[in-house]
Amino acid sequence: MCLKRIDIQGFKSFGDRIKLELHPGLSVIVGPNGSGKSNISDAISWCLGEQRASLLRGSRMEDVIFVGSDKRKPVGMAEVTLTLDNGAKLFSLPYEEISITRRFYRSGESEFLINKVPCRLKDIQALFMDTGLGRGAYSLIGQGKVDEILSSRPEERRTVIEEAAGIVKFRHRKEESLRKLSAAQQDLNRITDIVDELA
Ligand code: ATP
Repeated sequence: MCLKRIDIQGFKSFGDRIKLELHPGLSVIVGPNGSGKSNISDAISWCLGEQRASLLRGSRMEDVIFVGSDKRKPVGMAEVTLTLDNGAKLFSLPYEEISITRRFYRSGESEFLINKVPCRLKDIQALFMDTGLGRGAYSLIGQGKVDEILSSRPEERRTVIEEAAGIVKFRHRKEESLRKLSAAQQDLNRITDIVDELA
C-alpha cells in the first residue's frame, strides 16, 4: 500500500491548500522548528479517524482548525484528504485509488468521504481495520513511541509489529479456528463416550 498524496487545507498551520505528492520508497519531510512537520503527521492520523484531541496535540477538536496568522485570517473549516494506491487491492473496493476525506467545521459539524462519497467515520475506520494503518495501529510512530516500543516486553513488541504488518486479522482467525476445533474435539469426545456406553 502506498500513500500517494496528502491534501491539506485549513488544518493547523496550513491555512492555504497544500498538496504533498509522495512516491514509493522513503519520503522525508524537513523544515525548521515549528514549520509544521508534525502537523502533517497529525493530519494523517486525524484523517484516518483519530478522535482524541490530545493525541493531535490539542485540547479540543476545534484546535485542528487554522486560527489565523499575521498574514492570513482564520478559516472556518479544516479538511484533509489522503489518496492511497489500491493497485494491490488491499482495500476491498474496486478502485485503483482510494481517497479519504475528513472535514471539520467550527460549528462542530463533521464530514467524512470515501472517494468523494459521504460516509460515516465508522466506514473509514472499518476500511482501514487490519490494514495496519487504522487509528489504533502503529503505522504512525511518534517520537515518544519509539522509546516505548524499545523498552516494551518482547510479546508486546511482537504485537506492535504484527499490527503494523496487518497480520492481526490472520492471528484472530487462527485463534477462532483453534477455538472451534477444540469445541468440535470436545463434542467428538462426548459422542465417543456415549457410543462406548451403548456398546
Ligand atoms: P519541531 O521541529 O519543533 O517539532 P514542527 O515542524 O514539527 O516543529 P509543528 O509542531 O508541526 O512543527 O507545528 C507547530 C506550529 O503549528 C506552531 O507554530 C503552531 O502555532 C502552529 N499551529 C498549530 N495549530 C495551529 C492552528 N490551529 N492554527 C494555526 N497554527 C497552528
